[in-house]
Amino acid sequence: MMKDCTVIGGGPAGLNATLVLGRARRNVILVDSNEARNKVTSASHGFVTRDGITPAEFRQLAHQEFSSYPSISTLEDKVIEIIKKAEGFTIKTQMGKEWSTRKVILATGVKEKFPNIPNLRNFYGKSIFNCPYCDGWELRDKPLALFGEVDYTFHTAEILQNWSRNLVIFTNGKELTKNNEKKMEKLNIRVETSKIRLLTGKEGMLQQVELENGLSIERVGGLVTPELVQASDLGTLLGVQLNETGGHHSDEVGNTKVTGLFVTGEASNVYPAQLIIAAASGA
Ligand SMILES: Cc1cc2nc3c(=O)[nH]c(=O)nc-3n(C[C@H](O)[C@H](O)[C@H](O)COP(=O)(O)OP(=O)(O)OC[C@H]3O[C@@H](n4cnc5c(N)ncnc54)[C@H](O)[C@@H]3O)c2cc1C
Repeated sequence: MMKDCTVIGGGPAGLNATLVLGRARRNVILVDSNEARNKVTSASHGFVTRDGITPAEFRQLAHQEFSSYPSISTLEDKVIEIIKKAEGFTIKTQMGKEWSTRKVILATGVKEKFPNIPNLRNFYGKSIFNCPYCDGWELRDKPLALFGEVDYTFHTAEILQNWSRNLVIFTNGKELTKNNEKKMEKLNIRVETSKIRLLTGKEGMLQQVELENGLSIERVGGLVTPELVQASDLGTLLGVQLNETGGHHSDEVGNTKVTGLFVTGEASNVYPAQLIIAAASGA
């Protein structure tokens, strides 16, 4: 049977889109490969009524809610191809499933491209995060590291002042522009430009940043400013271009130039990267 809609991606954006479609009695299938980037963290913050929830529980609660709506089905699998047809699309998955659908919502999110710092991933989501509004409270007043080398890193340093004034920026071998140097001097923020040799700590909790110039600096956690890039090329393969923020080009309700193809969450707008904003976009 042809589905009314296939939602690809089961983060907050895809989950909320599925819920609203189910309540609208649409025959909807949610396909999710369960590889969300926030899986590495043990608590999500800032979603009113859900502050501190684990990413797994957030998803589980959404799936429980789906059970009230008989037109919703879900599948843990990865969509590997979307083929445009005269009417609607054909969906193909990694596990060999195939079906027709009138509409498609891409809610596939983004993934991080980190600065080239050895073993950073071991600390990501435990003591090193990427969004002060999400995890800054837990890091408040502590000796923090900020890893990054782009203009956005220095903007983050300015924002972070409200959480901790004990901050060292590590650019991992990149020199600062004159403008950023002046800004950091004005705020009295220490910047280390030496390449990083290794991060040390226990069970993901940062203790030291070891530099190639021989210095070892104690820090208990911090932030990194990765580049956020689309997690899936399904949209661009259908001819949708990316906009200047890295999201897929669409109008304000997610309509792309491909008839019947919509984008939502971070597949649509990469920033601001927050659960509640992705969920609202899905709705
Ligand atoms: C370490 C960390 C901590 C964070 N903490 C917070 C926080 O405290 N508060 C907050 O508001 N935000 C937080 N965020 C940000 C938040 O996770 C994102 O803003 C939000 O998850 C984006 O939602 P989304 O639905 O657009 O995408 P995602 O949640 O990334 O979901 C995308 C889904 O699509 C699936 N997918 C991708 N391609 C395919 C495919 N081809 N087929 C099937 N499925 C596919 C993926 O498996 C994934 O499940 C954090 C992020 C990270 C990395």
